[in-house]
Amino acid sequence: MIKKFEKPLYVTKSALPPFERYAELISQIWDSRVLTNMGPLHERLAAELKEYLKVNNITLFTNGHLALDSAIRSLGLKGEVITTPFTFVSTTHAISMNGLTPVFCDIKLSDYTIDEDKLEALITEKTCAIVPVHVYGFPCNVQKIQAIADKYSLPVIYDAAHAFGVEVDGKGIAEYGELSMFSFHATKVFNTIEGGALAYNDEKYKKKLNLMKNFGISGPEDVDMIALNAKMNEFQAAMGIANLESLDEKIENRRQAFSVYKERLSRLPGLRLTEPADNVKWNYSYLPVLVDETSFKKSRDELYQRLTEYNVFARKYFYPLISNTTAYASARADMPVSQYVSDRILCLPIYGDMSKLEAEQVCDIISEIYRI
Ligand SMILES: *Cc1c(COP(=O)(O)O)cnc(C)c1O
Repeated sequence: MIKKFEKPLYVTKSALPPFERYAELISQIWDSRVLTNMGPLHERLAAELKEYLKVNNITLFTNGHLALDSAIRSLGLKGEVITTPFTFVSTTHAISMNGLTPVFCDIKLSDYTIDEDKLEALITEKTCAIVPVHVYGFPCNVQKIQAIADKYSLPVIYDAAHAFGVEVDGKGIAEYGELSMFSFHATKVFNTIEGGALAYNDEKYKKKLNLMKNFGISGPEDVDMIALNAKMNEFQAAMGIANLESLDEKIENRRQAFSVYKERLSRLPGLRLTEPADNVKWNYSYLPVLVDETSFKKSRDELYQRLTEYNVFARKYFYPLISNTTAYASARADMPVSQYVSDRILCLPIYGDMSKLEAEQVCDIISEIYRI
């Protein structure tokens, strides 16, 4: 019998910098007495991220959801937005809470991103934007989506919550589309505790987004627009600065854990790991495995359940499909590929300081579950 993990192993483990490093950075807040409202640490993090992400412009937010919400609102849209049902519910909420109607487009079996070949058929007179997701950090077919968007003059806003640091042909992923949202939530590859950002090529969005995250206040004596409070504070920014210092090392660790999983799980029938094409610099943010019950002899749900007996807590990202939730009952649509994937996908544990030994142990457990 293979040993179970002594402590629960979750799908991810939040990255934290050395405590002393964080203490050193936040001690500056006691000197400056600036706790929030675009203080020095906020400005420093914004500059560092602009470089790391290879983007022209960046605006920081208190979380990724409000960043996406602001991106959508900033375009003043009306009507239908084409998006994927295979995502975290934040994507769809950001559309709906702006009074827009989500229209779901099916995904591809190859990399789980929106199927660009099914996109055009969904475009109507009412379509006002496309919101695809670089799910698991796998880039959408950005060229083809842009070509369709250009043909119909539609803006593309990417939910790049999973795609921190991802590059296509050496270009930052946020080069593509009108605006891209990154999430810096505690569970993401890079975190600021909670946090997020919008990256964009066109500088024209900067002023508006800065207003949109600070009540629309344009100066001491006027308010330009009705808007939210969605600012990133100095403690969040300090966490970001500290976490960024060891990020490359952590992504390299993830890569090594991934290679263990890939090598070991490919020996078992019925488990499929996906990785992006060679022109993509990936961030190893998630480890989605597609479980084929016929050859693996156990369903995704059985594997998920059996893993818990060994103290391994995988996650069914993304199940259910957003189009099958109660909240989106009115947007039901037939999504055969999304349904197929959602019923079979399981995200296994992977995180920045995972050791190869831990990955080996998870694989030992999965091999045993396969056998008995
Ligand atoms: C995490 C996530 C978000 C929301 O980000 P928060 O920073 O948690 O608000 C949006 N979309 C996707 C796909 C996500 O995974």
